[in-house]
This record gives sequence, C-alpha cells and structure tokens, in this order.
Amino acid sequence: MRIVPWLRRIVWLLVIVADGMLAFVFFRPPPQDLPWTELRLGEPIGLFTGRKLTALTSDPARCIMLLRETGLRFEELPPRGEGQCLAADAVRIAPRQEMLALAPASVTPSCPVAAAVAVWKWQVVQPAAQRLFGASVASIETLGSHNCRRMYGRTEGAWSEHATADAIDISAFVLTDGRRISVLKDWPEPGEEAIFLKEVRDGACRLFATVLSPDYNAQHRDHLHLDQAARGGMGWRACR
Ligand SMILES: [Zn+2]
Repeated sequence: MRIVPWLRRIVWLLVIVADGMLAFVFFRPPPQDLPWTELRLGEPIGLFTGRKLTALTSDPARCIMLLRETGLRFEELPPRGEGQCLAADAVRIAPRQEMLALAPASVTPSCPVAAAVAVWKWQVVQPAAQRLFGASVASIETLGSHNCRRMYGRTEGAWSEHATADAIDISAFVLTDGRRISVLKDWPEPGEEAIFLKEVRDGACRLFATVLSPDYNAQHRDHLHLDQAARGGMGWRACR
C-alpha cells in the first residue's frame, strides 16, 4: 500500500510526540524541579522551591496551611502595625522544638519567611552542621524580624522588608553540644565555622528572594539578612 507523503509525515510526528511523552513519564523530574507542582515544605529543595516560597507572600492562607502540614507548632498572630508597617500574616514559632527553634522565641516573622526558614533549617543548616560538626542545631539566634523602619534606619527612602515582617536577621547558630557559631565572630576567621556560615548563606539564596551577608557590606557584619521581597515584586532576587 502506498502512503501519501503528508500522511507519512504525520505518522512520524506522532511517533516523536509519543516518544517525548514516554521519556517524560520515565525520566520525570521530581515535583520540586517543576514550576507547576504544589509546594511541599518537607520536600528537598528543587529548581523552583525558592520562587514558590516567595510566591507565598501573596497567599498567606496557603502559607499557614503548608506550615501546619509539617507538624511544626506555631501561633498565628493578629495583624499588627498599620500602613507601611502592617504585618498581616506574622507567626510565632513555639519554643523548644527540635524541628525549629528561634531565639528569642518572641520573634514574629511573616508566615512566608517562617516557612522559608523552616525549609532552610531542615535542608541546609541541619545537614551542614551534622557534616561539619557532628551535632544538630538546637536553636537559630535572630536579631529580630518585624521592625517599622526604612532601609538602614534612614528617615526617608524605601521601606525595609522588616517593616512588614517579611525579613529576618540571623546572628548565630547554637548546636546541641553547646557550641555557638556566630556571624560576627566566626565569619572572618578561617575554619569550619566560616565554611559552615558561607554554606548556609549560599543555601539560603536558593530559598529567599534577598540574602545579604558580611560579604555585602559592613552593616551586615554581624548577621545574615533573609527576606522574601514582598515589596520589591516577584522578579527581584539578590544573593551576596
Ligand atoms: Zn535585615
């Protein structure tokens, strides 16, 4: 039987499409590497985890649902502040949890920042501490989150992500064996502590829209500033 040339082309095209679909089924990337799958906070970090975490800033109810799903105990706080300083979706992580403990426990980041800190602790900070120090992280020390101010505390200019609790400043990590790794003290010194700090900074860049460390400027010599750029829009990402 003679097959007309155009029909032959269509058959080939169908074969190629079917091959492509089969290849996708067999070699399908994990959900965290696909842009259209639902975010799960317990999954390993993938190509789109950071963007999905940042997108939670426009969907606080989903953020709360995802955080609850992990089993982490936390309190949803009523809206606080007003105007440029309204923190509408802040949470307080319950103290002394093995999953995640922030010090002081009174710190109240927005839910999207808390969710990203949780993923960071589980997938970046804890594995790095275990590999480099053979100990777990008991608590992550912060210099605060919600703070009604403009950038660098100036009297005019752009508002800080801290004004809406969409940022958190991390100053140190306390291990279960009592060791304390401090950004101020250990960042500039050669040693495993500095390797650890740079590794957790780099890991944070995969989860937060903005990460600023002592490498950025002198104002950040004692902390890592992590934020989800809720004001800056979804496209803005910085890592230094
Ligand atoms: Zn900050």
